[in-house]
Amino acid sequence: MITTHNHRINVDDKQVIQTLITSGQLVATNERVSGLTGQVYAPTPGLAAQLRPLDHGSLAIGGHRLAVELHRLPEAELVALLDHPHAVDFTQHRVAHLLPLLLRKRNFADRQTFVNGIVEALRVGPQRGVSPLVDDIWSGSTWLPDASRIVDNNGLPFLMTAFEVPLSRPDDDGAPRCAAGIDVGLSPVVTVATASGYVDCGGSVHPVTRAEHDAICRAATALGIDEDVVQQLLLLLIYAAARALIETVMLWLQHSASVVYVERIDYTTFKSDFAERGRELAVNDFLSSWIAQRMHACQITVYRVDPENTSQICSRCHLPGDRDGPVFACEECGRSVDAHANAARVILSSGMTTALKRYRRRK
Ligand SMILES: [Zn+2]
Repeated sequence: MITTHNHRINVDDKQVIQTLITSGQLVATNERVSGLTGQVYAPTPGLAAQLRPLDHGSLAIGGHRLAVELHRLPEAELVALLDHPHAVDFTQHRVAHLLPLLLRKRNFADRQTFVNGIVEALRVGPQRGVSPLVDDIWSGSTWLPDASRIVDNNGLPFLMTAFEVPLSRPDDDGAPRCAAGIDVGLSPVVTVATASGYVDCGGSVHPVTRAEHDAICRAATALGIDEDVVQQLLLLLIYAAARALIETVMLWLQHSASVVYVERIDYTTFKSDFAERGRELAVNDFLSSWIAQRMHACQITVYRVDPENTSQICSRCHLPGDRDGPVFACEECGRSVDAHANAARVILSSGMTTALKRYRRRK
């Protein structure tokens, strides 16, 4: 199937886009791009042949360079982009081996390894032919430069990238599937509860500590490296760590879910709750785009559930309780449980109730 992804382009590059429109290399079309509104422009075949990703934050286009958030892709698509013949000049820091360290609680030796690994990657600088920031082996997907579009989304420029991804519903073999409710959050990133009672409180990204951050910055300063470069590299890694957890959940859903219920949350709803921007971006991308595309390809329907009260209601007696950080306490039934597991169960039951109402309205 074809998957598409929208990447913000730096507003300072609007002039570049205008130049390409004026020269006829970007052509206005009546097409629509999922997730965006506004005028859509298609590259001429000549321009499409010159689209070259240069690093996670820039794309060469017809002799110009656009600052664009290319890193915001699921793992299969990112690998496809970097494996494309147009990406031979793509450079990045060699840090993929540090990804597992963000997915577990780091001991003293881990912290040393992490800091030293980042500093060494910064010292060497971005390189060609470096492993992408993924933790699984992906193959079979293809980037489609010809299908790229530029969109003027109410004055904000976006790049839409398209990929051919070999996605289909795995053969069932009679394996039981059931409804799944998903709670997304800070830590853990994604919690799943199913109608059969299975709960998986996923994994957490273990954030870069202040001490690690300061040690990296001190070493970077000594090497004459700008702090912005450090921040951008850490953001990429944290994004990749959250994405790795999300991919694990999506694979599980592909194999085991019959229908998925997820809160109707948009970009702005939880911005202030997130300490680390990289994790916030990954969760946003998952909610706003990846989950719908992946499940659609596997013929699994995704329903958005009203987020009101999902964290305040007891999943056992369905009466209000108290959420205190990671714990949900219900006075009515006298139990204290993991708040994320409780929320995932409430989302699941709320979704199932809505499905029944929908069914009755149709009859
Ligand atoms: Zn209760």
